[in-house]
Amino acid sequence: MINPKLLNQFLVEPGSEVNLKEYVTDWTETDNAKELGKDAIKERAKEILEQSREEMNKAQELLYASDTHSVLIVLQAMDAAGKDGTIRHVMSGVNPQGCQVFSFKKPSAEELDHNFLWRYMKSLPERGRIGIFNRSYYEDVLVVKVHPEWLGPGAPAKPDKHFWEKRYEDINNFEKHLSRNGTLVLKFFLHLSKDEQKRRFLERLTNPDKHWKFSEADLAEREHWKSYRKAFEDAISATSTKRAPWHIIPADRKYVARALVADIITTSIQGLGLEYPKVSEAQLAKLAAARAKLEGSDKDVETES
Ligand code: ATP
Ligand code: MG
Repeated sequence: MINPKLLNQFLVEPGSEVNLKEYVTDWTETDNAKELGKDAIKERAKEILEQSREEMNKAQELLYASDTHSVLIVLQAMDAAGKDGTIRHVMSGVNPQGCQVFSFKKPSAEELDHNFLWRYMKSLPERGRIGIFNRSYYEDVLVVKVHPEWLGPGAPAKPDKHFWEKRYEDINNFEKHLSRNGTLVLKFFLHLSKDEQKRRFLERLTNPDKHWKFSEADLAEREHWKSYRKAFEDAISATSTKRAPWHIIPADRKYVARALVADIITTSIQGLGLEYPKVSEAQLAKLAAARAKLEGSDKDVETES
């Protein structure tokens, strides 16, 4: 597993003012990493991912058996940052019955007729499960902050700074409520550079197998890069809390992002200190009786006609 000190550099300290320029997008370019070399890092990242998957599977089983907590994983990013691939790779070792993924798109008319958290509340993970939000209620302070005209009926035409501050407050209260009720909330921002996004879009346009992934809307949103960046900085600064911290994950190298996310999720679940339910003396006696009955059952002569 990854050294906790290294992981700490991706955690956003509650109350700190985030400047995304201070966070790397390509971890292999950092001084520490350069010493190791890219090939060695790639190898190591794969090992970590593999190990985390096994550990996560065990941690999820324990989560299910202990039935006291649930885990909510929030993934946010610019387009082509690799949310889907991260989910696929990181969660591939987990029992599918213990994990639910929800992807949030543009809200429907019905959803817009409710408070902005409504649609997310309906998709929260049950106790014992891991729920993944591929995009989340953070869209309501990100994409709609960049495009306030998408806020829907009832919202002010030109929302001011207080409007967004109240939404951050709502989100913090919501996450506090979740945490108090046994949900571990982990939030990841996959931090992609504008250059790498361009490379990935070009790949989608050039490689016929990837054409389906390209959307003209993605190009339109790219034009708003700076506004998104500011919206992310404001939202992350206002909502990284002790109970529900943000992690800013360098996402230019997919293998780095996947290993980091997998490791953070696994160690965080392990950090809950869960235990298998204790069996009482009376239950042990019942189990022993059931065992004796089962073991003797084949010798039984059937008496009924
Ligand atoms: P991919 O492109 O990898 O398949 P995606 O998450 O980008 O995945 P899309 O269907 O392309 O999925 O996009 C979903 C769109 O819905 C995004 O542009 C997102 O910003 C938008 N969206 C999500 N939530 C909201 C919201 N609350 N209000 C307005 N738009 C939203
Ligand atoms: Mg998209």
